[in-house]
Amino acid sequence: MNAHDSDRMAEVLESHGWTATHSASDADLIVLNTCSVREKAEQKLRSEVGKLAPLKARNPGVVLAVAGCVAQQEGEKLLARARHLDLVIGPDNIAELPALVVEQMAGAPPRARTVFDIDAPRFLAAAPRAGKAPVSAYVTTMKGCDERCSFCIVPYTRGPERYRPSREIVGEIARWVDAGAREITLLGQTVDSFRDAELPSPASDDPDESQFPELLRRIARAVPGLKRLRYASPHPRHATESLARVHAQLDVLAHHVHLPVQSGSDRILKRMIRRTTHAEYLARARRLLAARADMTMSTDIIVGFPGETDRDFEATLDLVREVGFTGLFGFKYSPRPFAPSLKLTDDVPEETKSERLARLFDLAEGQTRAHLATLVGTTQHVLVEGASKALAGRRLVEGRTHRNEIVHVEEPEGRAIIGEIVDVEIVRANKHSLVGIPTAAALEALPRADGRAAPNRHRRMLPLLSGS
Ligand code: SAH
Repeated sequence: MNAHDSDRMAEVLESHGWTATHSASDADLIVLNTCSVREKAEQKLRSEVGKLAPLKARNPGVVLAVAGCVAQQEGEKLLARARHLDLVIGPDNIAELPALVVEQMAGAPPRARTVFDIDAPRFLAAAPRAGKAPVSAYVTTMKGCDERCSFCIVPYTRGPERYRPSREIVGEIARWVDAGAREITLLGQTVDSFRDAELPSPASDDPDESQFPELLRRIARAVPGLKRLRYASPHPRHATESLARVHAQLDVLAHHVHLPVQSGSDRILKRMIRRTTHAEYLARARRLLAARADMTMSTDIIVGFPGETDRDFEATLDLVREVGFTGLFGFKYSPRPFAPSLKLTDDVPEETKSERLARLFDLAEGQTRAHLATLVGTTQHVLVEGASKALAGRRLVEGRTHRNEIVHVEEPEGRAIIGEIVDVEIVRANKHSLVGIPTAAALEALPRADGRAAPNRHRRMLPLLSGS
């Protein structure tokens, strides 16, 4: 989400005549984009802001801005704490950035602009340029969050849920695909709570039913050139029967879902206000896993939430085994300002949090390894995204399977492979990725290369730092 916001800031600035520089000392404007979902990200900001003080002293004309969730959360306080900052700008005020910078250049006093656009939500449309699009791009479908997970700062920093009209979403996806993108990841804080009066109503009046499955159908129908569709991150509440059905029906959907669970203990889930029990999550996950024979799932887990006992943690490990996640992001609980859980004592000792995280990662890595091992010897459809690191003088490209495993392949001579879906025989499993060889038929079917080197897989980042 932050990288995506940084790209929109870069576009807004470029459309006002700004160009990117690769060194901070050459810059007339430096924007630090920030995340505050865990404290570590905030610490990073403090250190980056500190580092910019000497630069501002040498060059008082440079405009220094802090954007994103820390900006939203701290507002004026940031300006008071760091006297060398000029601008603080919230996630809903990105479009105003060029005008605010001009004000600063004209000598206006430092300013914090952190107003939510609740009545007239704005979604900045991406402006992909033909031939410059990455193979895989992100598209925003909603912003804000109406859940009240007690650990989470997002409802405070991103405001209430606002949905982008599906027509705009489809339009942007079509533009990305025209510009060369092959895969789209839909982005939203609770991406599966989507609503739009233009789409057919949900199948039932169950409040957990949203129009997200209909959005997926509409995208699949309207953009036939799209090869793969993913989304992040859904809330388990909306992982209904209709969502599982759409996974079984639409070939464009990846055979993988990242569905954050946070804990496997009912007692902790309740204190987290996740509104889903262990048994409910498991049933929903199994229903999704059953949608495709080779479906996989990954999740997010917080360890050491206030009051978490060994028994609670064991229930989390049980759930990880029961679902058989092939990927997992784990975090130590981090008390956040304004989050309802601040009222609970952060009583799990740091050492226990570390131990639990290590055990969780151990279990998850074992599951990932076992899963990757089952793929050796199989043939996978790999969407090649770009160049990866060269190895022993050979040029490698990397892509992902229609689930989510990363696959490294040697770049074939004289053939254009980036952006293509290629049949790859998997020959080896590394700890977190696979190595494969394209089948002879797949190589033969690839278009001839025009002599250009493969573009780098990683999107060119403008010097806007992302603090996540
Ligand atoms: N709504 C977004 C949330 C992004 S935050 C989504 O569903 O993707 C990503 C993850 O950070 C969360 O799923 C959670 O596991 C973790 N997280 C959020 N708040 C946290 C906190 N206070 N302490 C530790 N981890 C947290």
